[in-house]
Amino acid sequence: TEKNVIMDETAIRRALSRIAHEILEKNKGIEDCVLIGIRTRGVYLARRIADRIKEIEGADVPCGELDVTPYRDDLEKTGSGGSADGREEPGSLLIPPGVFGTRDKKIILFDDVLYTGRTIRAAMDALMDCGRPRMIQLAVLADRGHREVPIRPDYVGKNVPTSKHESIEVALKEVDGIDEVHIISN
Ligand code: 5GP
Ligand code: MG
Repeated sequence: TEKNVIMDETAIRRALSRIAHEILEKNKGIEDCVLIGIRTRGVYLARRIADRIKEIEGADVPCGELDVTPYRDDLEKTGSGGSADGREEPGSLLIPPGVFGTRDKKIILFDDVLYTGRTIRAAMDALMDCGRPRMIQLAVLADRGHREVPIRPDYVGKNVPTSKHESIEVALKEVDGIDEVHIISN
């Protein structure tokens, strides 16, 4: 296997700064927006963007978490969505205190890698069950292509065209101790 660094700490920081600005531009501010991170690494991306938006606009934006049973959950064997009795609970949504649901909100979904699009499709199903949002947007750190459903991201850290035998490894400080994105070819 070969490992190629495609984003280092600086590149990730710059991409997230750009995305924060793009979100503010597209939404003309951050009013009525709720950031929802898809577990595991999407949650940290959403929090970092919320911190950046706070720095830029001085505004607090609520950050929630969504656990979708991923169609494909590379490297995410820990922290899976099973409940204590071992049953899967796909689509459990964790909304921060003080935010009363997602009805009529503009939801910005965050995931680390976009691939077939099936995880996002499932995430949208779960969100729709929690009250009809006004809008759903999608932000990803890396888009590796190979979509199987008609989903496209609104905000992309880096487009990474991959072949079928390549995958992406995303390391974030909060869980991995380092910020780095690699392509792995098998
Ligand atoms: P999809 O459902 O679009 O096929 O896959 C997206 C989901 O699977 C995301 O939650 C993402 O974390 C994970 N995933 C798919 N491909 C990769 C990959 O190459 N690297 C990483 N780190 N995660 C991936
Ligand atoms: Mg994932």
